[in-house]
Amino acid sequence: MTDLQPVRGTRDLIGEEHRRFAHVVDTARRTAAGYGFEEWATPIFEDTRVFARSLGDTSDVVTKEMYTFADRGGDSVTLRPENTAGICRALVSNGLTQSLPQKVFYAGPMFRYERPQKGRYRQFHQIGAELIGVAEPLADAEVIALGWDILTALGVAKDTVLEINTLGDRESRDAYRAALVAHFTAHREALSEDSRTRLERNPLRILDSKDHADKPFIATAPTIGDHLTDSARAFYDKVREHLARFAVPFVENPRIVRGLDYYNHTAFEFVTTALGAQGTMMAGGRYDGLVEEMGGPPTPGVGWAAGVERLSLLLAEPPSAPQPVAVIPVGEAAEAVALSVLQTLRHAGIRAEIGYRGNLKRRMEQANKRRARAAIIVGEAEVGRGVAQLKDLASGEQSEVSLAELVARLT
Ligand code: ATP
Ligand code: MG
Repeated sequence: MTDLQPVRGTRDLIGEEHRRFAHVVDTARRTAAGYGFEEWATPIFEDTRVFARSLGDTSDVVTKEMYTFADRGGDSVTLRPENTAGICRALVSNGLTQSLPQKVFYAGPMFRYERPQKGRYRQFHQIGAELIGVAEPLADAEVIALGWDILTALGVAKDTVLEINTLGDRESRDAYRAALVAHFTAHREALSEDSRTRLERNPLRILDSKDHADKPFIATAPTIGDHLTDSARAFYDKVREHLARFAVPFVENPRIVRGLDYYNHTAFEFVTTALGAQGTMMAGGRYDGLVEEMGGPPTPGVGWAAGVERLSLLLAEPPSAPQPVAVIPVGEAAEAVALSVLQTLRHAGIRAEIGYRGNLKRRMEQANKRRARAAIIVGEAEVGRGVAQLKDLASGEQSEVSLAELVARLT
């Protein structure tokens, strides 16, 4: 077999690319832990109904992007296109609906059959946070603050705008839907084919259309503000008040509806100008009906997901390559001592490596190639005296050090 390449839309992460990726995930994980979130890992494939039920059967994800197949037993399974549905399914499957709130962090691969381009892949990765079981607007503001803190810790917050909106409660949405139907029906013939379908099945979705034919009518569409009930408005006011207390800057964007069916009240996106059309890095909202869709009791929830690849692309400073210490035995007799030194360093938390073959010169070349910061040369003459030569590979300075002092000298 020749010329085997990764499948279109998938990527290998190696070297700096993986370091960027891991830095994003590690930073998010640490920040989420500070907010009291615990990490869950759910399967990367689920019963197709988990997604078909929750995402809505008119969403782009369900109609065009899912990797769905019958397994060998004939069951329909789907590679997860997102993880909120899986987390809610897991909450119900594991009998946790009475142990609320649950504050969940996750990180892992997602799969969507999309046209690949920069920042858009068929296997991509998300980090995400879900706060399940809290109906108060404080929860919405807190998960948004967590997202903002992660972007800040990554150094990308400065190029980012948080856009928020409300989709209101059921009553507000019904009134708004009627207003949208009236508006778009007047322009029905000019709408894209997809949007004509949405008009019948889920008119709110038209606002999420990326089709140019729809843009002028989206621009003139009514906004939800005029249709909010008093309680939905009060909820939204509280979210904004809490965001200000958390010192998270935001702008309001009445066009944000989110692509999936399960949202109500708060919807938000963190957008950057640095990634062209792939500008949304982190997105989420409130999904009070979702746990019930999964067979649980009515349970409020709010959360977000962010694309790890998009965040990785934005990192200003790629994390630097690791710099090990190279242990270099010279001669057979020195090897036993060298291996013991090697393990002592590693167990003390110092990144240490040994060359596998070659004389001193060859092994020094290898050490430089591995970007070692220092070399510890263990020669036969030194072995008997319990010392080694420590060479700083940046300055070239070399000195004799007792083996007992090595760890202290290298930390
Ligand atoms: P877009 O409008 O860019 O298609 P989306 O609304 O489909 O995004 P969500 O379902 O909200 O995206 O997913 C949350 C985040 O996951 C996005 O903001 C983005 O950072 C990332 N993401 C979504 N799809 C992809 C993809 N195909 N490749 C890489 N990252 C993605
Ligand atoms: Mg999409």
